[in-house]
Amino acid sequence: MEPEILPIVVIGAGGAGLIAAWKSALMGAPVLLLERNRKPAIKLLISGGGKCNVTHEGSMEELRGAFTPRQGRFLKHAFYAFTNADVRTQLARSGVETYARENGRVFPKSGRASDVVEALVSLARSAGADIHLDSKVDSVFFREGIIHVAVGGEMIRARKVIIATGGASYRKTGTTGDGFTWAAGFGHTIIPIGPALAPIRTRPPLPEDWRGIALRNGRLDIYCREKKLAQDRGDVLFSHEGISGPAALALSRTAASSLLHGETFVRYDFFPDLDFHALDEKLNRMVLAARARKLTTILEELLPNRMIDRMLESIRVSSDARGYTLRREERKAIVQMLKSWSIGAVEHVDVDRGEVTSGGVSLDEVDPRTMESRKVRGLHLAGEVLDIDGPIGGYNLQAAFSTGFVAGESAANSYRESARGR
Ligand SMILES: Cc1cc2nc3c(=O)[nH]c(=O)nc-3n(C[C@H](O)[C@H](O)[C@H](O)COP(=O)(O)OP(=O)(O)OC[C@H]3O[C@@H](n4cnc5c(N)ncnc54)[C@H](O)[C@@H]3O)c2cc1C
Repeated sequence: MEPEILPIVVIGAGGAGLIAAWKSALMGAPVLLLERNRKPAIKLLISGGGKCNVTHEGSMEELRGAFTPRQGRFLKHAFYAFTNADVRTQLARSGVETYARENGRVFPKSGRASDVVEALVSLARSAGADIHLDSKVDSVFFREGIIHVAVGGEMIRARKVIIATGGASYRKTGTTGDGFTWAAGFGHTIIPIGPALAPIRTRPPLPEDWRGIALRNGRLDIYCREKKLAQDRGDVLFSHEGISGPAALALSRTAASSLLHGETFVRYDFFPDLDFHALDEKLNRMVLAARARKLTTILEELLPNRMIDRMLESIRVSSDARGYTLRREERKAIVQMLKSWSIGAVEHVDVDRGEVTSGGVSLDEVDPRTMESRKVRGLHLAGEVLDIDGPIGGYNLQAAFSTGFVAGESAANSYRESARGR
């Protein structure tokens, strides 16, 4: 006898998979959720430094605007179907109150990501979803018009399969990119994957005693072949391998993809609000007011102390100079350095280092209203397995929740229709 065909199988118990399983179970569909780890949602547990930035309280325009225009268009329906307010309401119903910080980022009041995971699991379980942990799916494929799921030597047949296996970074959390392989097997285009929200490695190495320095109020720029590709005004931190901190994380995706096209550099403007002329005037005033002082002392107002000597050395200005010995062209060279200081050339960073994976299943091949594959009926994709990656701020989890919701809802709708037809 042929084994029965299950109505809905969800693969991956992260944010997208748990919400998908919850929504379809809530609509009365029998749901089996398969997760390879012994615990669900391990990535969510470590998100936001263990505090879990669940969403962002911004308007719909802000949420969509945080993504690329293509991603923002794709996410529109999903963001309306399951909004940031809905996320907070569902968590509150499960006893997890949230609050928004001044910058709009939303966290659980308890400060514990584990509370969010428990709430999502309990939502899915109490709606009736059957969650099987320690159940690694080996492959998903199409045979005789039915989607097959191979798990631990067993073959499951399903009417609807929702792939919510996440990306390919932080592989230790279970996300080894399996969904990309299966989707490619179904004929889907996989947009090349890379690290997003990762540190940026640079060469030559930065001086050891610069480690730990934080640059604030400036602007980080990415250049490829003298063309500026992107910029960000968040903080920059120096590390043993290059730079990290909000601005570096935000630009890491551009840096990684630009590297595929040619040598890429990071530059820093210490005074983005002053143009060259205004900064030159400012420095000139400072020098005139302290003519007898050492140049290094004068520059302490503009630069972290530890950086001054080496930076002056790089433009061949003596750190022994005094205000009154500084020549006009030396002053201009300092201003040029402050406006466009080359931190270094960008080096390759493994996709594993990204908090998020850029690239994934091409959005052109997925229906944004149902998250159903345009290649294979009955196959849905949700969360980071899709070519979606947003900035820091709760946007990525919101995208996972919303796309999971739409996939779960659409799968359950089909189940209801087929149940009515029987
Ligand atoms: C350190 C870190 C901090 C982050 N902080 C935040 C934050 O504060 N806010 C935010 O919005 N985003 C944050 N993110 C990003 C966010 O966590 C992800 O974008 C989001 O979790 C993606 O959800 P998902 O459900 O698509 O995938 P995941 O949460 O990655 O879930 C995928 C699941 O699929 C399972 N799986 C994979 N392959 C198989 C298989 N073969 N068989 C069975 N199961 C499988 C995995 O084990 C995993 O549990 C952070 C990421 C990292 C790494």
